Amino acid sequence: MCVLCQGADRPITREHIFARWLIRQVHGAKLVPSQGALSTAAPLRIARVVVPVCADCNAGWMSGLEVSFRRMLFARPRTGPLQAPDRLTLSRWFTKTAVLLAHAYGGALVGAEHPAQLVSGMPDDIEVFLARRRRPRQDLDYALDVMTDGEARESRVRSVAVLVDDLIAHVAATGTLSSRHGTRLWPLRTHTMRWDTLPVITLVVRG
Ligand SMILES: [Zn+2]
Repeated sequence: MCVLCQGADRPITREHIFARWLIRQVHGAKLVPSQGALSTAAPLRIARVVVPVCADCNAGWMSGLEVSFRRMLFARPRTGPLQAPDRLTLSRWFTKTAVLLAHAYGGALVGAEHPAQLVSGMPDDIEVFLARRRRPRQDLDYALDVMTDGEARESRVRSVAVLVDDLIAHVAATGTLSSRHGTRLWPLRTHTMRWDTLPVITLVVRG
């Protein structure tokens, strides 16, 4: 079954969570998560983390989202206001990535019970906080906050932090995150958000 649209009737392929263009952009071929890969003996290279998604998702909305995300982050200077459509693009890209990372580590992101909503928008119960990190140790990174509660077959992931370049997003169920994680990117608020005034934080995942 496709992790994202939940469709079971389409061909499924194992796709890399982080696209080749992004790995190239950040010279990330050999990077591993800086806080260690959860419970895996050998740290998994970020470039090699794969998940099952269907051909429709992969060639359709995910491909379009990837193009928009790439253009936003790397084709123009990150200055001025972050407009609503751009905030939606960023929120969807980071949430899609968080859902897939949780899955890759054998879990599910709490709040993302309806990942198929990502196909055309954002899941209902997810919030995304955005910040910058000054001089990050590496330009592509992630961390998962996994709840350890005994016997559950599937672990529950409380939040996921994803760092791209000097931008860091935290994705979690509504009400989980705070100003420690940056400023709220999603759900949209009325007041203006600017690239230039994003708070600077360290890579944190605990709420
Ligand atoms: Zn799909």
